[in-house]
Amino acid sequence: MMLQKIKSLSEKYSSEIIEIRQHLHENPELSFCEFKTCEFIIEKLKEFNVKKISKIAGTGVVATIEGKNPASKVIALRADIDALPIIEKNDISYKSKNNGVMHACGHDVHTSSLLGVAKILSELKDEFNGSVKLIFQPAEEKLPGGAIKMLEEGVLKNPIPEIIITQHVDPALVVGTLGFKSGMYMASTDEIYLTVRGKGGHAAMPHEINDTVLSAAQIITSLQQVVSRKAKAAIPTVLSFGKIIGSGATNIIPEEVKIEGTFRTMNEIWRKEALKLIEHIAETTAEAMGTTCEVLIMNGYPALINDENLTEKAKKIAKEFIGKENVKDLEIRMTAEDFSYFTNSKPGILYRLGVRNDEKGVVSPLHSSTFNIDEKSLEIGVGYMAYLTVSLL
Ligand SMILES: [Zn+2]
Ligand SMILES: [Zn+2]
Repeated sequence: MMLQKIKSLSEKYSSEIIEIRQHLHENPELSFCEFKTCEFIIEKLKEFNVKKISKIAGTGVVATIEGKNPASKVIALRADIDALPIIEKNDISYKSKNNGVMHACGHDVHTSSLLGVAKILSELKDEFNGSVKLIFQPAEEKLPGGAIKMLEEGVLKNPIPEIIITQHVDPALVVGTLGFKSGMYMASTDEIYLTVRGKGGHAAMPHEINDTVLSAAQIITSLQQVVSRKAKAAIPTVLSFGKIIGSGATNIIPEEVKIEGTFRTMNEIWRKEALKLIEHIAETTAEAMGTTCEVLIMNGYPALINDENLTEKAKKIAKEFIGKENVKDLEIRMTAEDFSYFTNSKPGILYRLGVRNDEKGVVSPLHSSTFNIDEKSLEIGVGYMAYLTVSLL
């Protein structure tokens, strides 16, 4: 039976996959600079008898494993491969050798898991119908991201997958569990840069100047209505300003005040409306205060919506694989992921792999200098993704 076969293969290869993960962890590379990682992936794919391998989007890799009747159905699996500019503080034998760069978001786990899946599916290719496309994506962590570049270069063509799947580690989930969220899951992200300008001058003579500081305060306050009065209650929305610079003094009103923030939501139509509204409110509020406001919006990733039908199927298959009690429901989160470009192109799912172990002290959050995983999670990450793929083909 396929379930038992995949379970025993993922167990058999787990120490090899752990070795691969530790090699990647020790040699992290930043977004779009994953040169050695890219070569390493290609080398491993060749070793695992994967035939159709090509480089894409600079440092990305795409490969296809053909089963029986390869054109009958195609499923794409995606792993992100880049690391973060963080100095690692873990005291481990495979600590980052590239000082100031660290796999603190688990992309070493995603890459090694997908290589493990490649090894298993390549071995079983005479036992399933269809094809599996393996996508190793660079630069998830840095705008504009590697996903859009891969799509522009035709990663989902030749062959065209029907669905696309990815997993992401989750330090809030205990090792041995998997997490799912149907529908709206992760937010779109846009960066907001506001520059308020006016005639500065002596703070003791406000009637002779335009108060840029008061205007900035008024703009921030007025913009809160975007979330509290304009957003539909059913669409999660966040607008936060985390930076404000006005370099005047106790007795000087500056000529310029800069404000920076982030806008996040889960609906692309509302996202466009809201960004226009932010621009309009900022400009007109500034004008009413006798100042001007220049609005610059840097668009980030779209919202990530997990396909509902696919999520239901994946959950059912997860229950078969690790037991009902280990399949968890996730909440919406306002962080972003460029896997959303893929889910905007094809029905897709991002599910979470539990990596936490309180007894071992493996509890640090993503993007922290002490992030790590319980490596037992790799066996589950590899086995479940392989079984999910074969079950859906
Ligand atoms: Zn990250
Ligand atoms: Zn990540």
